[in-house]
Amino acid sequence: MQKVDVVVVGGGVAGLTAAIYAAKAGKQTMLIEKQDRLGGRAISNKKKGAYFNLGAHALYTGDAYATFRELGLTLQGKQPTNDAYGIWKGKLNTLPSDMKSLFTTPLLSWKGKMEFASCLTKLIKMDTRRFDQISVREWVEGNLRDPMVRNVFYSLLRAASYVVGPDLPAAGPVLKQLQNALKGVLYLDRGWGELIEELRKKASDLGVRLVTNTKVSSIDTRGGIVRQVICEDGTKIDTQHVVLATSPLIANQLVPFAEETSLHTWKEQAIEITAACLDVALKRLPNPKQQFAYGIDQTVLLTNQSRAAYLSDDGAQVISLIKYQGKETDSDKDLHELEGVLDLMQPGWREELIVKQYLPKITVCHDFMHMKRLENPGPAVPEIQGLYVAGEWASHGEVLVDAATASAKRVIQHMLALEGKEWNAFNEHRGII
Ligand SMILES: Cc1cc2nc3c(=O)[nH]c(=O)nc-3n(C[C@H](O)[C@H](O)[C@H](O)COP(=O)(O)OP(=O)(O)OC[C@H]3O[C@@H](n4cnc5c(N)ncnc54)[C@H](O)[C@@H]3O)c2cc1C
Repeated sequence: MQKVDVVVVGGGVAGLTAAIYAAKAGKQTMLIEKQDRLGGRAISNKKKGAYFNLGAHALYTGDAYATFRELGLTLQGKQPTNDAYGIWKGKLNTLPSDMKSLFTTPLLSWKGKMEFASCLTKLIKMDTRRFDQISVREWVEGNLRDPMVRNVFYSLLRAASYVVGPDLPAAGPVLKQLQNALKGVLYLDRGWGELIEELRKKASDLGVRLVTNTKVSSIDTRGGIVRQVICEDGTKIDTQHVVLATSPLIANQLVPFAEETSLHTWKEQAIEITAACLDVALKRLPNPKQQFAYGIDQTVLLTNQSRAAYLSDDGAQVISLIKYQGKETDSDKDLHELEGVLDLMQPGWREELIVKQYLPKITVCHDFMHMKRLENPGPAVPEIQGLYVAGEWASHGEVLVDAATASAKRVIQHMLALEGKEWNAFNEHRGII
């Protein structure tokens, strides 16, 4: 029988962050991951000399960036240029990203250009929390008049949230993500796998016991108190604190009588967001001018991440394409559409192809702040003493990986608060930068 203060279930960004902060708080910590490596959805795979994330990944200047900096991670990589195209009626048009492109874009009328510029200027200084209770559509329709400006904003907000329809997402978090995007995003050298490696090392240096290849099968919560973690291989670990850094569905499966707890509400209210992702490594770019495009009347995005990050050992260009998916998905149709976008942006790409990766339907987030949400999940599961949740779905207004790190920190802060201890390093999620 083993005994530790804290067991973290799941070794993605949320689990690693929770384990690091638990160890920093002086807790004996064990992290258990079912896969044979850490990282969850933030891993990278090297194929024929090119580094592929699981779909395009950009680090925004939000909670995760601040957390990783606070932890001393190097985060090597660069900000990409903003020159962007908008795909409208099957054609490429310059998108406004600076004064010059604002004046030259054929997408907007003169009046539309003025409205677009004025809205962006307001957005930069806006307290986005004011819009947490209304949907993206309500915000757009209440603040923008020109139909084409609305279309362009829908496209930018879709890219910030990965959510196709504007009726579901709460506007505040998505506007905050767009605000962060306007400050510039970071593409990481060698992909997000490097970030995971840095987190792994940090956790290991702090004494976290990292266990991979081991699946947790249940948590013993007899009497409404966390007592033990039980793994599929029969291992049992005595503990008083468990952080479930898995999906809401798995969190429910691991806890007996979860239907009598808030875990059930959080699972039932969750709306999963998926995407189809095509990544290609090309020997060279057929058209070096066209490296970044938003779909305006198509729910797609293309970015050449190699324009900012080191993503291949031999100079190959790694381009990522995303098809934002709604409820109905069609793997072949999505691939065809993404290849069509590549044809438009990089005609002749097939002759330059070294290797490709196609993920027809990957979960981008298990849940987010949407208009049908009853409550924000976590940090504690109130019905069971010592049980916590973390993960990008346990968002209290942060988006994607920012929610993963922020929710993880909330857990440890809560744990310490119950012991009457303060955590000075805690940064409130949306007021830090
Ligand atoms: C295509 C795509 C694009 C994205 N783009 C961006 C982006 O541009 N910017 C951004 O900020 N974010 C982006 N994200 C989101 C980001 O990748 C996730 O928010 C983040 O990686 C989630 O981390 P997590 O720890 O919450 O979950 P996960 O990474 O899913 O980790 C959960 C872990 O729990 C483990 N586990 C599950 N069950 C058990 C069990 N029983 N026992 C032990 N272990 C278990 C799993 O194996 C997994 O490793 C993107 C995601 C995708 C898929």
